[in-house]
Amino acid sequence: MSAAENFRAIMAEIEDARKKRTVANEEEIILIAVTKNHGVEVMREVIDAGAKNIGENRVQEAAEKFQVLNREVTRHLIGHLQTNKAKQAVKLFDVIQSVDSEHLAAALDKAAAQIGKIQDVLIQVNIARESQKSGVLLEDLNSLISFVDGSKNLRLRGLMMIAPNFSDVEECRPLFRQMRKLFDELKTSRNGFDYLSLGMTHDYKIAIEEGANVVRLGTAIFGERSLLNGNHRQV
Ligand SMILES: *Cc1c(COP(=O)(O)O)cnc(C)c1O
Repeated sequence: MSAAENFRAIMAEIEDARKKRTVANEEEIILIAVTKNHGVEVMREVIDAGAKNIGENRVQEAAEKFQVLNREVTRHLIGHLQTNKAKQAVKLFDVIQSVDSEHLAAALDKAAAQIGKIQDVLIQVNIARESQKSGVLLEDLNSLISFVDGSKNLRLRGLMMIAPNFSDVEECRPLFRQMRKLFDELKTSRNGFDYLSLGMTHDYKIAIEEGANVVRLGTAIFGERSLLNGNHRQV
């Protein structure tokens, strides 16, 4: 199947899953087409098939592709961001999902102020405490939230999490559930706190059952990325 056909099939499947769930089933679910390592042609293909949101994980790659994309779409940064790329990221992305330190938040706030932008951000939570993963630890979450709240040019829109790569994907379920609980608690006292970004190709069905309202899918739409070379682009 083509990327466009996959995209439409997954949209339909997500809508069915949304109706079946009991958790927050009134919420829309946003499907982010993760186009990292893929060329501009397939980006246009899924956007023309109805994709409203795309995700990229590297600033440099995104900059090159956005320059020639020539389509209206909401652009999400889903990968780890270094503070020295904050300026560029703020110019390129509508939502930065990977805020995980005060240092980074401060750099983004400053960069956004310089171009007169209010930058939408999510805080990435490392709920599984994986040492190799980015994301703020649970015990540091509240102080990071306060810091972002105090940053005039940032607007906190929700939370993001990347689940561990368990061989039994069911092990993700309690983590997703814990994230939804955290999200609901924070949401009661906040405005515009709308996004809970959980779920990738191998675990998104469970993420939706447990209350995710943003899923980030690459492989399910575009097929396997090259494992040999991270810079490989399929055009
Ligand atoms: C690459 C990536 C995805 C998409 O992964 P797939 O398994 O291909 O769906 C989702 N989220 C993040 C943060 C990623 O880096």
